[in-house]
Amino acid sequence: MNEFDYDLFVIGAGSGGVRAARMAATYGAKVAVAEEYRVGGTCVIRGCVPKKLMVYASKFAHDFEDAAGFGWTVGDSSFSWSDFIARKDAEIDRLNGLYIKNLERHNVEIIQSRAEIESPHRVRLTGQDRHVTAKYILVATGGRPNFAQHLPGAEHMITSNEVFHLEDKPDRVVVVGGGYIALEFAGIFNGLGVDTTVLYRGEEILRGFDDDVRATLHEEMEKKGVQIICNDVISSIEKGEDGLTVKTKGGETLMADQILSAIGRSPYTEGLGLERVGVELDAKGAIKVDEHNRTNIDHVFAVGDVTNRVNLTPVAIREGAALVETLFNNNPTEIDYENIPTAVFTQPEIGTVGMSQAEAEAAFDNLDIYMAKFRPMKNTLAGNDEKMLMKIIVDADSDKVIGCHVLGSDSGEMAQLLGIAVKMGATKADFDATMAVHPTASEELVTMKEPTSRIRKNG
Ligand SMILES: Cc1cc2nc3c(=O)[nH]c(=O)nc-3n(C[C@H](O)[C@H](O)[C@H](O)COP(=O)(O)OP(=O)(O)OC[C@H]3O[C@@H](n4cnc5c(N)ncnc54)[C@H](O)[C@@H]3O)c2cc1C
Repeated sequence: MNEFDYDLFVIGAGSGGVRAARMAATYGAKVAVAEEYRVGGTCVIRGCVPKKLMVYASKFAHDFEDAAGFGWTVGDSSFSWSDFIARKDAEIDRLNGLYIKNLERHNVEIIQSRAEIESPHRVRLTGQDRHVTAKYILVATGGRPNFAQHLPGAEHMITSNEVFHLEDKPDRVVVVGGGYIALEFAGIFNGLGVDTTVLYRGEEILRGFDDDVRATLHEEMEKKGVQIICNDVISSIEKGEDGLTVKTKGGETLMADQILSAIGRSPYTEGLGLERVGVELDAKGAIKVDEHNRTNIDHVFAVGDVTNRVNLTPVAIREGAALVETLFNNNPTEIDYENIPTAVFTQPEIGTVGMSQAEAEAAFDNLDIYMAKFRPMKNTLAGNDEKMLMKIIVDADSDKVIGCHVLGSDSGEMAQLLGIAVKMGATKADFDATMAVHPTASEELVTMKEPTSRIRKNG
């Protein structure tokens, strides 16, 4: 008889947890997954997927404007927030159902309850007032939005958890934060005709990305009508008859119907029982794991955002899969975190892989930078002034492309393919040897012949 109720008990049915649960079951393990909210996790229920649907919805306004340049007369257009939200919710319900079906088809038991760890082999299901035992426990509880709860009037702010469920489209929004989630929502609201202001405490939006990309995004978002205020923070929020009054330390007064707080996310480890079991956390509350997703406590593992390594869905999925290969298929598997391509669904969009110029300057002696900023063909006829930016960063000693950054239409799609090239170690000569695809915007990536700047550390 089996010593434990399960071979693997997964806490959290998000990107990492679901993949690990399903794969372990495929290898014959007896698996259960506990979920306190909805199966699918952040990405499917209140992250990547509904966000991208909102981005699509918001882009039509710009498309209608562009259409005029191609001879179209677009009749009166209007947007129904309630219709869109209902359709978006139906799609999320459909995906949630698919995730449940898929787990069930693989004989994974889904337990609708919060779970907390009692010991390295025991989990308490708080919603069902019982406990279960497992050979291995996997913590895949993800992250949750940070919130400045002590700010006067903080109760009037919403986070990305609530933004997907607003009953009405606001007329005026203040988005607090300068990271990708804040800026994506600023683009969404602006596209939907909402008077949108971004308030960010840092020098420039989108910290961690290439500086030219950051500056160009700032410019382009402002051109589209988003007001961006940097180097400032909220000092108070008051609710009055005309909506919410936001006062900032820099002396601004902004009026809003909604204030979206998007000031980062933290690993969701609070109250999980980790301290009781002795699982080590870092200063940000993330679970410390080794390259095989092992915590310092035998039999307890963690993957995904709760470990705060690279907080992206594909990474959580790979980590979940790698863990299962290691534990159930006798195939110790590690993840390679280098050159992870990624997209930011701002308007305009960003696709990027590899180092920013600042990172490259810190790591390499000699760099060649190739950069082009231009108005893509579609925008010229449309009379649309939006510029596209392409930037390639090359280690001048080896000729390897170590960073590639695109800002403009469809650059998220480009990032996936650029990711393959950069991951394979493509050189600038490989880019040059590749025939252009004409007429496209991306052909610029293989036609930039002369560096726009050369950086040489030793003169
Ligand atoms: C607004 C937004 C947009 C995003 N956009 C993108 C994007 O475009 N591309 C991208 O790659 N990534 C994006 N992300 C990040 C992505 O969603 C996460 O990296 C990914 O979901 C992490 O997966 P995970 O398995 O670690 O955790 P999650 O998907 O967060 O899943 C954790 C699950 O655990 C559950 N849970 C937590 N504690 C317990 C408990 N004690 N008991 C039971 N259940 C529990 C939670 O309810 C949740 O369902 C976005 C995130 C947000 C918030």
